[in-house]
Amino acid sequence: MQLTRLMVPQSKWNIKCPYTMEADGICVHNTANKASAMAEVSYMIGNNNQVSYHYAIDDYRIVQGVEENRNTWHASDGGNGKGNRKKISIEICYSTGDLEQFKKAELLAAKFIAYKLKEKGWGIDRVSKHQDYCGKYCPHKTLDLGWERFLNLIRAELGQIQTSTPTQEPAQSTTTNYLVRVTADVLNVRDGAGTNYRVNTTVRQNEVYTIVETQGNWGKLKSGAGWICLDYAQRKDSTSTTTPPQANKYVLGLYVVNASGLNVRSGPSTGYGIKKVYARGTKFDTYEIKNNWARTPSGWVCLDYCNLLRKY
Ligand SMILES: [Zn+2]
Repeated sequence: MQLTRLMVPQSKWNIKCPYTMEADGICVHNTANKASAMAEVSYMIGNNNQVSYHYAIDDYRIVQGVEENRNTWHASDGGNGKGNRKKISIEICYSTGDLEQFKKAELLAAKFIAYKLKEKGWGIDRVSKHQDYCGKYCPHKTLDLGWERFLNLIRAELGQIQTSTPTQEPAQSTTTNYLVRVTADVLNVRDGAGTNYRVNTTVRQNEVYTIVETQGNWGKLKSGAGWICLDYAQRKDSTSTTTPPQANKYVLGLYVVNASGLNVRSGPSTGYGIKKVYARGTKFDTYEIKNNWARTPSGWVCLDYCNLLRKY
């Protein structure tokens, strides 16, 4: 289990998490959306609504947005509610998206909740759902599939993590062969697939390397120099016939405008009206990609005129 922290800045605590909190349990939600955990949390941080939560979990990533010792606005039970003021809130992603992807997200959430229960010394009775506080039918997809079934996923994980720590399980290794281009300014090449391994050398932005093996989000360089974190590299093309081509040229991430002025439109094509114009150098988050268009906080832009700064 890997945790990504994308925290609400202190300047927004008054909106998103105004009170200190000593949690007494966990509250489970479904996003009722199709976006990834990174996209959900960056959207939550980016707006000024009194809506917040501690974690969003999708099929491969756990993203934290608020410290556990602060409250979040998630349970619709008011300023002094036992949900809003006493629970660690968890959003499970993709509940209106692909069912298999949602089930994987649920499974990762169950692993994470089991880990949290163990960490806090809590029993399964500490796991509640949004519905318990206000009657809202949330987590809707988890309820459709069966709440007791979800609790059983957690119970199964609780049985397992007494004998093995999930954070220390080695990721499965896969042999492969494809090219990547480095997107970070400078990227460490390490002796193994993790930041705990020593740095052998570094590679630089726009250099291209062949990856011959992957483990989680790490890739082994063909040269034998070591491993790089693939979050900072973009796949260039495939030299393997067994790997399907990537469906999307662009990925969700932080982008910067690389044109003198970029139209922001109300939809993902030039057929939609112009809402505003991003100046060159404007940095923006993306919440959704459709072909070469991305939905940003102000509307849709064509990514052909932008550079990716950081992949989510
Ligand atoms: Zn909810």
